[in-house]
Amino acid sequence: MNSIALPLAGQRALVTGASSGIGEAIAQALAAAGAKLLVNYLHDEAEAQRVVRAIREGGGEAVAVRADVSVEADVESMFAVMQKAFGGIDVLVNNAGLQQDAALVDMTLDEWNKVISVNLTGHFLCAREAARAFVRQGPIDGLSCAAGKIIFVSSVHDIIPWAGHANYAASKGGIMMLMKTLAQELARSRIRVNAISPGAIRTPINRSAWETPEALARLLELIPYGRIGEPEDIGRAAVWLASDASDYMTGATLYVDGGMTLYPGFEAGG
Ligand code: NAD
Repeated sequence: MNSIALPLAGQRALVTGASSGIGEAIAQALAAAGAKLLVNYLHDEAEAQRVVRAIREGGGEAVAVRADVSVEADVESMFAVMQKAFGGIDVLVNNAGLQQDAALVDMTLDEWNKVISVNLTGHFLCAREAARAFVRQGPIDGLSCAAGKIIFVSSVHDIIPWAGHANYAASKGGIMMLMKTLAQELARSRIRVNAISPGAIRTPINRSAWETPEALARLLELIPYGRIGEPEDIGRAAVWLASDASDYMTGATLYVDGGMTLYPGFEAGG
């Protein structure tokens, strides 16, 4: 079991979609906890290199790798780079995701397929590669109690329906059963699989919901705790889920949402 100060010392972590927002904060938090990082990105190499530089300046190790998580060959070659760079993997954070919003009657098949292929199929492809590697390497004495940890970044919309976002909500609902099924299937291999479901977090994906005072005020009506989440709120949860501090936890979802899933509309009666 590792120390509390550096709970991920010596561990190797891959974070998808880590050149911005929540993925970036998770990568930084895992690195600060002692992990070596593969920073995955899709388009923005300069931003991914900025994240890598920040980790190195903090005394950590990191590499940036371009891969589209919805493309099987890209995922396979990214995991091959991980193996070559760090000799294995201990933590996968499936974070990459996107929205293509439309009312159901206007939603094109391309919009449906795009969101499902990145948010759900992409998470499957990465989880499968990680599980293969974890099973191959088994638990490593002194590194972690588990042979590996998979963390899905889902959303409160895995349980809160979201009109106008059927593709996104379906992808996140799908992640919940993917996560639970993998947790059941892999527990005997000492692989832990959990999810973080963020509420409203200040990132590029939902800029329109927080960038004006009017939009922010409307958003805060949905958040009993009275503030928008910051990417670092999710980074801290990811460190805990990746570390031996949560060793008895598998198949669970942590809602990190300032109470958004507490049906705030019922606060004053119902
Ligand atoms: P973001 O747009 O900053 O991050 C998404 C990242 O995924 C980007 O870096 C993007 O380049 C990457 N990405 C998209 N398609 C990809 C692909 N095919 N292959 C590899 N990378 C790809 O937004 P974010 O808020 O940081 O989102 C991160 C995750 O958090 C997403 O899964 C999102 O659904 C989830 N989430 C966000 C919020 C929020 O309020 N911000 C709430 C709940 C869940």
